[in-house]
Amino acid sequence: MAKQVDLTKRRFMQMGLAATAGVIVQPSLVLARPFGHKMKELAFYNLHTDEKLRVTYWKNGQFNSSAMSQINHILRDFRTGDVFPMSANLIDFLHDLQTRLRTDSPIEIISGYRSPRTNAALVHNSDGVARRSYHMKGLATDIRMRGVSIRQIQTAALFMKRGGVGFYPRSDFVHVDVGPVRRWG
Ligand SMILES: [Zn+2]
Repeated sequence: MAKQVDLTKRRFMQMGLAATAGVIVQPSLVLARPFGHKMKELAFYNLHTDEKLRVTYWKNGQFNSSAMSQINHILRDFRTGDVFPMSANLIDFLHDLQTRLRTDSPIEIISGYRSPRTNAALVHNSDGVARRSYHMKGLATDIRMRGVSIRQIQTAALFMKRGGVGFYPRSDFVHVDVGPVRRWG
């Protein structure tokens, strides 16, 4: 009889602990959601033009068109001045890459959009430039970030499987695109 009481008591205490744990867990879940998803910010630094940009490009489930225009501008073909609408998937990829790397260092732009003219010139003058590059479709960037090695960027991007990842240690950048998942370099 005493044993039975003990068991019940123990079970009751376990339930009590579980209930307490539930109370502790639930509010943090409720709080974590809005902070994680209500706003998405990105910062860029264009190494060719010396331009800087920090914008909230996504808020409450929507892309901000004026922020996206500013992003298109800083990622333009700096050789010709041509501006092209960059892929929203690419911008999200860059954002999520930074989140994964736990950095808010600006994304340093080696190359964003490339006009057909620029790409043709690059194909002519250097090895390893694709004739039908994803840069020409607004689907690719060549990047690095201060305080993060290009090896870390490559590893994180490969893990995410969101597109192509090219490693260029001699030029010190990583190519990321939202084309098919593949890797090189
Ligand atoms: Zn590239």
